[in-house]
Amino acid sequence: MSTVVSKFGGSSVANAEQIRKVAAIVRDDPRRRVVVVSAPGKRSKEDEKITDILISCHARAAAGKDFRPRFALIRERYASIAADLGLGNDLEPVLDEVEASIAGGADDSAVVSRGEYLGAHLIARFLGAEFVDAAELIRFANSTAIDDAATDHAVRERLGGNGVVVIPGFYGAHADGRVQLFSRGGSDISASLIARALGAERYENWTDVSGLLSADPRVVTDPDPIAEVTYHELRELAYLGANVFHDEAVAPVADANIPIQIRNTNEPGHPGTMITSGASAEPRPAGTRTGVAGKTGFAGVLVKRSMLSKISDLPGQLGSVLGGAGIRLHHCALGSDSALAIVESAALDAAGVGVLKEIETLFSAHSVERTGPYALVGAVGTDLAVVPEVLGTVLTAFAAAKLPIHFVSSGYSRSSFIVAVDEDRYQEAIWQVYAATA
Ligand code: ASP
Repeated sequence: MSTVVSKFGGSSVANAEQIRKVAAIVRDDPRRRVVVVSAPGKRSKEDEKITDILISCHARAAAGKDFRPRFALIRERYASIAADLGLGNDLEPVLDEVEASIAGGADDSAVVSRGEYLGAHLIARFLGAEFVDAAELIRFANSTAIDDAATDHAVRERLGGNGVVVIPGFYGAHADGRVQLFSRGGSDISASLIARALGAERYENWTDVSGLLSADPRVVTDPDPIAEVTYHELRELAYLGANVFHDEAVAPVADANIPIQIRNTNEPGHPGTMITSGASAEPRPAGTRTGVAGKTGFAGVLVKRSMLSKISDLPGQLGSVLGGAGIRLHHCALGSDSALAIVESAALDAAGVGVLKEIETLFSAHSVERTGPYALVGAVGTDLAVVPEVLGTVLTAFAAAKLPIHFVSSGYSRSSFIVAVDEDRYQEAIWQVYAATA
């Protein structure tokens, strides 16, 4: 029988009521036999995610402070979910173990991963399913890279049966058994790796929205839903700043051509968004916009010197000085007597003025100046950067709104473009791009 891998995010497992919905969804389709879960998330705006409480427990313990009052919140949370689901207090010994390990100086991965670990135990019990530890399945080659062959092998060996299994997301282990976390939101990656190894029919990502929207609804009123998007477009949207799905989770399933479906635990009848290679979908007309996104928090480093363009490898040298100071070069525009690097403001703040001086010396520059703050805003769609009217209409709309543009990037891909605007006009720029690409 084919397999659907179903990953449930923090809001889908935040309390007993949500976990009951998860159980109904899993039972509704016998192909849903591999369930990956996040740690319980927020139940309300003011609430805390279990992962955040664990991070603070670890930080307090590492600083020699009392973490127990914080840990008590974790105990209460799991105990109340277990009680509401009619389960006993079997998690007590595991909670004791976690508390003892924090007191004993366990590293952050070992501590912070326990939110998923405890949650998966609890959900497995409620479903009458088998708990399988992610440490047995997801194998890291080092702290950032996955050992793909070992992971594929372990997943196929361990999950070869037909029963339902529940697996904690967000972590795996090194060959010596040491637990290793992914970056935040990393349960998406866990499920993607498992789906790839199993050659799953589909990877469902259950969350609290009925699929992706073509813009941030806090900025654009009632943005169009996205019914279908390609893997590539999704990555471009994430790069622009759309906070949808962990961008590192796309590659494993995309390589295996497994569709990702973003669905809503609170509205399981809704088809949500399908993410595919696009090969089987109806071709969309050139210029069709999929989504608009952006981010604030950028600054410019403007370097001036006559004949600056004569320096070979200018972007490389600029990028390496910035990189050495912990600043990532996001974009670079070059002219005859000047160059503009677009970087993150926070990284530039952290590096201090020393890095500007270093650039000045390196290029014998006439001046090196910080500019901005900027927001980067862009759009993604079918041949969006190729159809001349699209960018033309956006620029005309900006001109009408007297919205200055500080940088434009287009031509790096057929499907998207980026512009930099004043940070305080971010929202206006988003909806101007949205309206102009409608
Ligand atoms: N619980 C983790 C986080 O809050 C991982 C995840 O949810 O995917 O980032």
